[in-house]
Amino acid sequence: MSYILLHKENLHNNLEIIKSKLGSLDKLFAVLKDNAYGHGLLLMAEELSKYGVKRAVVRDVEEALSIKELFLDVLVLSEHPQNITPISNVIFTINSLESLKLIPKNTKVALKVDTGMHRNGISINELDAACKLISASSLNLHSIFTHFRSADEIDANFFWQRDNFENIKVKYNELKHKYSLKDVFFHSCNSAALLRSNHFNDDFARVGIALYGYHTLPASFKEINLKPVLELFAQKISQRELLFNERIGYGGKFRANEDMTSSVYDLGYADGLFRLNGNKELKTTNGSLILGRTSMDSISINSSLDGISVFNNAEVWAKHFDTISYEILVKLSPKIKRSFYKK
Ligand SMILES: *Cc1c(COP(=O)(O)O)cnc(C)c1O
Repeated sequence: MSYILLHKENLHNNLEIIKSKLGSLDKLFAVLKDNAYGHGLLLMAEELSKYGVKRAVVRDVEEALSIKELFLDVLVLSEHPQNITPISNVIFTINSLESLKLIPKNTKVALKVDTGMHRNGISINELDAACKLISASSLNLHSIFTHFRSADEIDANFFWQRDNFENIKVKYNELKHKYSLKDVFFHSCNSAALLRSNHFNDDFARVGIALYGYHTLPASFKEINLKPVLELFAQKISQRELLFNERIGYGGKFRANEDMTSSVYDLGYADGLFRLNGNKELKTTNGSLILGRTSMDSISINSSLDGISVFNNAEVWAKHFDTISYEILVKLSPKIKRSFYKK
């Protein structure tokens, strides 16, 4: 079977970089949504908890329930309000005024405000109404947060949203008296926003991709020494010698320009691996050429190794497919066995 190995020392390296930006790991909400960006939710949650991370972010209730014992708080980003019941140490995101009306009393919640991304969250001028509803239904408001639409682009957008968020802080601190609400925490930064900032001044940051070893900031930030955590391996099913001019796989896309070895490995697009169409060259970690098109359950490689590292840096595949490392990682099937690399 194909398998995934996670590099623990790289994860620790990334945590130290994040910690140095935050001042303390206590300010970290580690984003473990969607199977920890394909790395394996439980495996990552256990290791982070052991390292001293106290808070995590997930997508839905199911993910929250599977890891809540490991953390002080687990923030759920996008559960449907009708599925929500209060659960101790699970914080549910309020994404609209509508959902505030549906959430049961006493639920621990985080209020998302839209400072310019125009995706989820209440608008700034709905803040008064939101506070009123929160107070009326005795919700336990943990924090107020926002998300940047272009934290990784060096232009004015980021600063505009950050100013909007600073206004929210001021406005809430006025409204809390009006509606007898308590002090809350504020958080806005994802990985890119945290890594680019020199003085972090929220209570928490929600960091995902940097944990896993990547960032999407411009080349001028290349001194940020994050290291990829995930390495994907495949195992050999069969091996053959290709003769000059023989072609391989669907459409015969690859043609041997000399006699060569080709092995079939047990990893295909059914495993969430992006499908190569054979038009553009791509190599494995050790520089072996991938031959022709990816099949559903297999891939041909110019190698005779029994086990081969397909990639140890998702950025290589992201570039090939004109996408981002997030997508390459998160699509890896949960069926692939994952474990930490043992030296
Ligand atoms: C996914 C997500 C994050 C983490 O973003 P990264 O770029 O991976 O650090 C933070 N906040 C919210 C609301 C998210 O959806």
